[in-house]
Parts: sequence; C-alpha cells; structure tokens
Amino acid sequence: MELLEERLVSEMGKSVREATNEEIYSGLLHIVQTEAAKKLPFEGSKKKKVYYLSAEFLIGKLLSNNLINLGMFDEVRDLLEKNGKEITQIEEIEEEPSLGNGGLGRLASCFLDSIATLNLSGCGVGLNYHLGLFRQDFVSLQQKAQPNPWLNKSGWEVKTGKGYDVTMGGKTYHSTLCDLYVTGYQSETIPLHLFDLDTVDESIVHDGITFDKKDIAKNLTLFLYPDDSDDDGRKLRIYQQYFMVSNGAQMILDECVARGCNLHDLPDYAVFQINDTHPSMIIPEMIRLLEERGIGEDEAVDIVSKCAAYTNHTILAEALEKWPISYLKEIVPQLVPIIEMLDDRVRRKFDDPSVVIIDKNDTVHMAHMDIHYGKSVNGVAKLHTEILKDTELHSFYQIYPDKFNNKTNGITFRRWLLSCDPELGKYIAGKIGDGFICESEKLEDLLKYADDEQVLEDLMQIKDRNKVRLAKYLLDVKGITVDPDSIFDIQAKRLHEYKRQQMNLLWCIHHYLDLRRKVQAAGNAADTASALSGEPKVTVLFAAKAAPAYVIAQDIIHAILCLQHVIEQDPVISKVFRVVMVDNYNITAAEKLIPACDISEQISLASKEASGTGNMKYMLNGAVTLGTEDGANVEIHQLVGDDNIYIFGMRSQEVIDHYAKGDYVSRTYYEQDPVLHEAVDFLTSDEMLGCGCSERLDRLKNELVSKDWFMTFPDFEEYSKAREQAYRDYADRKAWARKCLVNIAKAGYFSSDRTIREYNRDIWQVE
Ligand SMILES: *Cc1c(COP(=O)(O)O)cnc(C)c1O
Repeated sequence: MELLEERLVSEMGKSVREATNEEIYSGLLHIVQTEAAKKLPFEGSKKKKVYYLSAEFLIGKLLSNNLINLGMFDEVRDLLEKNGKEITQIEEIEEEPSLGNGGLGRLASCFLDSIATLNLSGCGVGLNYHLGLFRQDFVSLQQKAQPNPWLNKSGWEVKTGKGYDVTMGGKTYHSTLCDLYVTGYQSETIPLHLFDLDTVDESIVHDGITFDKKDIAKNLTLFLYPDDSDDDGRKLRIYQQYFMVSNGAQMILDECVARGCNLHDLPDYAVFQINDTHPSMIIPEMIRLLEERGIGEDEAVDIVSKCAAYTNHTILAEALEKWPISYLKEIVPQLVPIIEMLDDRVRRKFDDPSVVIIDKNDTVHMAHMDIHYGKSVNGVAKLHTEILKDTELHSFYQIYPDKFNNKTNGITFRRWLLSCDPELGKYIAGKIGDGFICESEKLEDLLKYADDEQVLEDLMQIKDRNKVRLAKYLLDVKGITVDPDSIFDIQAKRLHEYKRQQMNLLWCIHHYLDLRRKVQAAGNAADTASALSGEPKVTVLFAAKAAPAYVIAQDIIHAILCLQHVIEQDPVISKVFRVVMVDNYNITAAEKLIPACDISEQISLASKEASGTGNMKYMLNGAVTLGTEDGANVEIHQLVGDDNIYIFGMRSQEVIDHYAKGDYVSRTYYEQDPVLHEAVDFLTSDEMLGCGCSERLDRLKNELVSKDWFMTFPDFEEYSKAREQAYRDYADRKAWARKCLVNIAKAGYFSSDRTIREYNRDIWQVE
C-alpha cells in the first residue's frame, strides 16, 4: 500500500486527496504502463509466434481491466476510497478506444487477453484509427453520427519509432507504429501493433462524419470503416486493408529473421490468423515480399499456405468481401499478377466455377483466396461451421475437408465478469475459490448450491444492486429514469435486420396495446391502477448503433425511439412498462448493462448469427437467454438444458430451405395473424406519426409487409409466447434465481481461454 501511494504521489507531485480525478487517472496510467512494459516477453525467447491480424480491435477502456490483470485493482480502489475518491469516477475520465464495430472486433480483443493470459507467444496487428466507430446521438428521435476521437485524450498508445514504406495507388507512404500493451491476467503482456500515418488530418471531417474520401494521405487511418456505399469509400477500404497487411507482413518478416528464420522455414516462426476477410491481402503480399527476397514462386506459395489461417465470421452474402479487379489494379497493381497466378493454379486443378478466385465478372473473392491458400478454415460456433460445410462453402469443403474446423467463440472472464461485475466475481470466488478465473470449467462447482436458498437469494440481491447501479448510471449520464424494481429485458448489439430488433419492437407495441386495452376497459381512474396491478413490471432496454448507410436500420431506431416517446406520455402504462433506447452503445455501456440484465434477447434469424458473444456475456452474469436456436445459443441450450433458457422459432434448416425455395411471403402472415397485423399497423398510427417521421415509419412498415427479408413474422407468435412465459416464471424468485445460477455455472465453456487453447492446439502450435 505504502509503495503504491508513494509512487502515485511522486507521479502527481501532490497527495491523493488533493489531486483531481484527471491527475489521478494520468498517474495511474503511468504506473500501469510501467508495470505492463516490465512484463513484455523478451523478443526471441520463443521461436514461433501467432500474428492475429484484424481490421478491428474493440478494446474498451483499459485502466480498470489492466489494474485487474496486474493484480493492483483492489489496492488502488482502497487507496482511493481512503482518500475520498471513487475508482468509478476515475474510470469515467478515460475515453473508450472504439476501434471496432461489434462482435468481431470484441472477439479479437478477448483473444489478445487470452493469448497474454496463457503466456503464448503472439501479438495483434491492426490500424490506429484516429476516430473510432462513430459516437451516436439521438436528435429528433433519430440517430445522428458524430466523430468519436480518442487518441489525443487516451495516453495508452506507445510510439515505437518503427515504420515501413508502403506503396499504394502510385505513391509511397511511410507508416508509424504505435503499440498498445495488452496485459494478461497474472501473466505476460503482449503488444497490439497499430499502424498509422503521420499525415492523417482530423480537421478534414465536417458535418457529422463527412470527409474527402480521395485524399488518402489525410484520411487513411482517420476512420474505422469508412462508409462503403460509394466507390471512393470502397477504395478507401482497400487502401486501409493493404496498408495494414503490407506493414504487418514487413514486420513479421523482420521479426522472424531477427529470431533466426531463413525465410524457407517461415512456417516454423510465424502463423497469421486472418480475422474475417479484411486482412486477406496478406497472402499475395507475403508471396510478393518472399519473391522479392529471392524465394521462387512455387516455394513462396507453399510457405504462405503453411502460415495463413482464416476465420469466417458470417454467411451473410453482403459481408463476404469481393473487390472488382479494376480497383486492385488502381490501388495495388503489384498484387494483381500474384492474385492472377493464384487463380490460375486453382483453375488448373479444379473445374468448378464456384471455387475460382477471380470470377467471370472480374471480381476477386477474398474468402476463396484464404481457403485455397490457408492451412485452416474455421467457423465460430458449431452450427455455423456445419452450415459452412454443408451449404455456404460446400464446394470448398469437398476439396479440403481437413482444413475445416470449428472454434466456438469465447469471452474473457477478466473483463466480462471480474471487471464489469466485481461483486458477483468476488461472491463466486468466495463460494468456490478463484480458480475459475483461469480454469473456467471450475464454475460448474457452483451447481452444488443450486438448491441453497441463501445462495440463490444472494445472487438475486447482487442482481438487484446491479439494476440499481444501472438505473443510477442511466439517470446521471443519459438522463433516463428506469425502475430497478422491474424486469430488465435487454437487447444490446449492432442493429441489423437479422438480429431482429424489429421483432422485439413489434412485441413491445403489442404489449403496449394490450395494456392500453386493459386500462380502457377499467374505465374510471380508480380502477385503472388496479387494472394493471397483476402485470409484471418490465423495462425493455435497447442499445444499438446502425451503419450510417443502412437506411432500414435507421428506421428501426427511429421507430423504437417513437414508441419510447409514446409510452412516456402515458402516466399509467409507463408505471409498469417502459421502452428505453440507450444511446451510443459501446463497451463501456455494455459493461453497465450486462450485469443488470434479467432476460437476454438473442433473437436472430436462425442460421444468420454466426455465433454471438453477447449471449455468452449475459449468461456469465446470470441472465437467462430468450433466443432462437442459432449460433452459440445452440451450445448454450445444450449446456443449460430446456429449463434454463427460452428457445423459440424456426430452426436453421427451415430457414435455409425457405431461402432456397424462395417461398416465404410475409404478407400472408400479416393478413392472417390479427395480433401481428395490429402491431405492424401501429407503426404508422396517429400516435407514432405524432412524434415520428412518416417517410421512415411508412418505409419500415412496407419493408415488413412486402419483404421481411429476415422472416420476423413467422416467429412472432412463438416469440411472444416464450417471452410472456419468461415473465411469468420470473415471478417465482427462487426458481428464477436457480436458472441464473445454472447459467453462470455452465458459462465456463465460453471462456476465450478455452477458445484460444483450441486455436493453439489445432492451428497455431506456439509456446
Ligand atoms: C459483445 C459486444 C458485441 C457483440 O454482441 P452480439 O450480441 O454478439 O452481437 C457488440 N458490441 C459490443 C460493445 C459488445 O461488447
């Protein structure tokens, strides 16, 4: 204690009591950075290293997480408390680095935490976006995207002084490399290498997030994922991707040579995991660099094919990247002959047009290149991998059955339990010891308390306190009032039609109309209060950002905000039912929402959610899943059993069959189901139009009635039944607590430590 206090005081030049929160934050930051740096492994102590390449790392705030991993959190918290300060207030100072969109980027960050925790030799490679994922504001009940700067305020990035030349679009750019230290839990630190360009200029952004997409020197690493709805945006993505992998490839070669590699034996020194297709150009780029260094073409292809491994994250066609070869000729002409050569080799071996790299429209399929020239192809949940093998990538599976493998996603328990819900983490450790933090399957020991009334009640009280904490946070930070004494039913994730926020919305409308009928039937004021007395009190929380170019997704946000507004105007109904859309969903918000959740909405269209990781975080924090049999929900279902999850809706095969036959007609459901009909019609009711925008609400209604591409209507009835059953079951506090306990106890499988052990066992083989 003395030592920490002395260090902090000497950092700040004043006592803890006199220091401002900002001064304490920077003081702690320096101490953490120093401690983290001491744990960087000596480069060269291990031969082989995994390079995790990803366009996104949604790392979240670093202070508390690093304090936990370095074993300093409790000491710091107590020291601050002793001096009248609160760690949560210090946390508020930090700007969250939002260098990712959602699940995929968060996965990459959880994986780095686990690689470090398991003391494996590895690092992350990505880009240092100056403005992370946009900040979301609600203006006139609509999403408004604003720039989200984090760099200057952060202080976590370490300038390495290293950099490489990268030639693109006829010009050569010199990169700079910044590192972020990723601490492992009671173990080593690994670097996350983020490449950047010094000439990038934040002042070119105007009117929200608009900027000149052609000025590469100024915009290259300005934004995470520029809007790709036009050609310039798409080309900028190629610039970003090539910049990332060319830097990465040069760094990998330098590092491996320094460790003793002679290039011929590169597969003994490096494995690169390609996280989705964004880093795919590492394959032709590495071949190019090897050839430049004197390796023959055949051998270069062979070497790279033994180093690369590809993770597929989606079967949504729109997300499988394909680039017109004309773009590549303009931006990376040096790669085009190599890609053509790789395509030639494929054509000479196979005469199936579905497996070519460059198709007849001169479009380059990045995933196809990864599969042919990588040693492993993995899906991210059992069901997802089976769908890849059976349908989406079936022709590839027939060629390379041995390359395909499953690696069900996971989450780091350090951030998603110890850091976001310290009280629950401590409580569990008090009951079964803290071994579960690194050996997650030990969580099953909790099952011996499944019928212990005291433990069940304790768990519910922890949940109650987390709900109070969330209510306070929403009031303080967002100005929103919610009743902690209600069921917290939460859907927080990126907004996409396949995630079916619209189905949740339709149920909320239905429930609102139902309550309104009950109130009206009661007649006079005295009776209205009692009319709703038997109703479960429910708070539905949404949180989601929608891609700025995704119009229907914006419409859904608008409709949710309008419904929230309509219900707020109703003093009677809003006592038992609230709908709240929390703005700017990010890791920080997730860390507050998840520990307070009772019911976790995981309602994708079966077959469309590759895995999900949100589902795992909620489960670990003692929420019960209401979901479709999709992604990792299938595995959650198997683990917890029918009694501890609410599953509804079509199964993935049915959905796949409907798409294959093209026989789904949403209008039939609309016409035949009066409950659904009424809820859909309400979207354009006088109440909604009274506060909303008719263009958006009309479009959303039409989209549902005439297309409903993600088939919400057929599942609506079963969804409503399952949801209402969950609310009834919630009334039995002890029985509900038992469900929560089983969910926590069975969550061990979803630790990213387990996932990373599997990657290492089957693909990487690093020490
Ligand atoms: C975990 C997480 C996600 C992924 O959530 P899914 O429900 O799996 O889509 C997205 N965004 C944030 C901020 C997260 O923490």
